[in-house]
Amino acid sequence: MFKKICYILGLVFFALLVFLSVKNANLSTLIDTIENKTFDLRQNIMVNSNAKKPSQDIVIVVVDDASYEYILDNFGEWPLPRNIYAEIVDYIEAQSPRIIAFDMMFVKSLKSANGADVAFSNVFQKYSNVYTAMNLDNQSKDLRTPPVLPDRLSVEVKNYSKELNFNEVTYSNCRAIIDGILNYTSNIGFINVSRSDDGILRTMPVFVKYQDRLYPQLAVKVGLDYLKQVEGKSVDNFEIDSNSVLSFAGRDILLQNDGTAILNWYGPAGSYTQIPIYKLIKAINNEPVDFDYDFHNKVVYFGTTAASLFDIKSVPVDKVYPGVEIQATYLNNIIDNNFISKVERFSTIVISLILAVIIGIIVIRLNSAIYASLISISIYLIYVLASYYAMRYGNVWFELIYPLIFSLLAFISMFIVKYLIKSRDFEHQYRLATTDGLTGLYNHRYFQEQMKMQVEQAKRYNSPFSLIIIDIDHFKRFNDTFGHQSGDAVLRQVAMTLKKNVRATDIVCRYGGEEMSIILPNIGKDEAFSTAQKICKRVAENSYKLSGDRESNVTISLGVATYPFDGVDASSMIESADKKMYNAKNNGRNQVG
Ligand code: GH3
Ligand code: MG
Ligand code: MG
Repeated sequence: MFKKICYILGLVFFALLVFLSVKNANLSTLIDTIENKTFDLRQNIMVNSNAKKPSQDIVIVVVDDASYEYILDNFGEWPLPRNIYAEIVDYIEAQSPRIIAFDMMFVKSLKSANGADVAFSNVFQKYSNVYTAMNLDNQSKDLRTPPVLPDRLSVEVKNYSKELNFNEVTYSNCRAIIDGILNYTSNIGFINVSRSDDGILRTMPVFVKYQDRLYPQLAVKVGLDYLKQVEGKSVDNFEIDSNSVLSFAGRDILLQNDGTAILNWYGPAGSYTQIPIYKLIKAINNEPVDFDYDFHNKVVYFGTTAASLFDIKSVPVDKVYPGVEIQATYLNNIIDNNFISKVERFSTIVISLILAVIIGIIVIRLNSAIYASLISISIYLIYVLASYYAMRYGNVWFELIYPLIFSLLAFISMFIVKYLIKSRDFEHQYRLATTDGLTGLYNHRYFQEQMKMQVEQAKRYNSPFSLIIIDIDHFKRFNDTFGHQSGDAVLRQVAMTLKKNVRATDIVCRYGGEEMSIILPNIGKDEAFSTAQKICKRVAENSYKLSGDRESNVTISLGVATYPFDGVDASSMIESADKKMYNAKNNGRNQVG
């Protein structure tokens, strides 16, 4: 019964804490933040062991710190005149790249000469494989009127997911790019990013929403073009199934409820081939330059990495990571179908419960606390290891923190349950070994132990203690008259009377048969004697219930001995008290000797 109650209490304790950790919003945000760190850790280990190789089809033309300096020196200011980009595109197109994509926004700018804008816009008419970017925002309407975007930039997405809505990637405004591009090409993708609570970019939106229409990310547009060219797969419309999985051209992207996809990382900043843009500028001007890169069949991204141009984010594998490399990583995920699928919360809870049950059983079953701890820790570590390999080879994110919390809670609550049961078993055994079954008083063995202890203590602290020995008068006769059962009942009631009339610190024992004894720690001769007299009186006053509704009286004879006057060890004390008790018998009983 007690065991069952302990188990139930343990389970309730466990369930309560589990419920708190799952249902408390602040707590689950904290858990998610820590979980994200474990994702970062796994990604870092993967990157350090070269688990995923960056695609060699991707090359980045960068405005790096060197190029930025070159542009300031040769053009007097940033940004680079747009006609120069047009010339660079011509130069690269001559080598027939697959795609050229600008992770840059060519917005309307007073700084840009009209001729330069026209020259750059013409690039999109000349080549069908050039892409550029836009970004949605939430600027107020009185700053700029939200522009109407051409229909051809948006896509149809059939969304059958129960949880996914695009609310968190919905924006109310947008800064338009130059009309020459916006009104002509469909090759415009969006470069909005999303960040976790801790500011780190782990996921990217696949579509962004504006004026009730969905617009694909730049990397998605570039990815679709790439898949069409390399694998001959064309995608006309998008469909998200009930499990929030977006599938196209053999790629499966599990979308988070906020409409983002979790990126898998290929390396720290600088993992993709990078060509400083100043080298290309020198090349088109026929200036001497140490440069011979072949752009044939490459996807060429343009972007900035210079610290002063601010397009820098923190990602799981690097604190300082340029936006253009995020686009490259995104495209790489599409090419390799490498997006991370995070195991849904329900399954995580189930996994956590299974671990908790296993660990709970181990704690309960194993007698050794050390083995139970070691095995529990090992089981969790095996799970951690398995989750690492699942991410490395299966692109699956098994959560680590909920299973850890559940395992810990199971471990702690089952240890408490086990301790409670054990300590009660111990108490039970101890009581059996020290008490007398009939009267509930301490038994003879306990009495002897206590006597020795009292003598030692009295010696050490130089303090007295007393012993009273009690024998019921004419008990043989009593038994003969009323029967043994009535005798037992009287024994129990006399024992109760003794207990009631002494202090809590006094030790009342059944010495043997119908003889009892009381050890009175720190009690001197006089006080012990008066206690004995009080007891004698109370026992005689009482009437005792016997079997069959009868009642009767008994009397007792008592002997008192006090350390150190009557004895200096246990046996001499007992002998002395015994002697006095017999004196009382000889003097007519019902008295203290
Ligand atoms: P006295 O006044 O001289 O002590 O006379 P007495 O008859 O009590 O003599 P004694 O103390 O020698 O007798 C012990 C009797 O106590 C013997 C036995 O019948 C009875 N007795 C001992 N243990 C028990 C017990 O557990 N239950 C019952 N009912 N009687 C017991
Ligand atoms: Mg006796
Ligand atoms: Mg007796």
